[in-house]
Amino acid sequence: MDEPITAEAESYVRELAELWLAPHEQECLSCYLDRVVAVFGCQGDLRFAGRYRDLAAPRATALERRLSDSGGRCDCEVLMNTMQPAWHLWKPRRTEVVDGWATELDAEPPDEMPHCTGVRRGSTQPCRNWHSMLRPSSRGRRGGSR
Ligand SMILES: [Zn+2]
Ligand SMILES: [Zn+2]
Repeated sequence: MDEPITAEAESYVRELAELWLAPHEQECLSCYLDRVVAVFGCQGDLRFAGRYRDLAAPRATALERRLSDSGGRCDCEVLMNTMQPAWHLWKPRRTEVVDGWATELDAEPPDEMPHCTGVRRGSTQPCRNWHSMLRPSSRGRRGGSR
């Protein structure tokens, strides 16, 4: 079917995309990226991370540099290289009987991430569902981290 999309439908789709692309209340960067990359796919750059920064943490101007310094040169690499599901979410190492033999199975990451546990607004830290693997930045460390 080659029906042209009406302008109305188009703006509706855009609106939906905007909704999806807006970080939820207190949603952390990691859960946000996990969510939007699953829906839209990685675009080969840091546009979603940048969007999160613009909307939720506008003062984190060094975010993209910190991410790419830690191996996250695009949004999916950020998910792969700079963060990891927190250990308490992993399916534990367990013993199962495979072909009649008790077999040790390694811990596995969760199939689906639970809801974001929330971060304070303006933070680019992950919530408790994630471990950050960001390299600590050598400069730009402000005092007063409690
Ligand atoms: Zn990517
Ligand atoms: Zn989160």
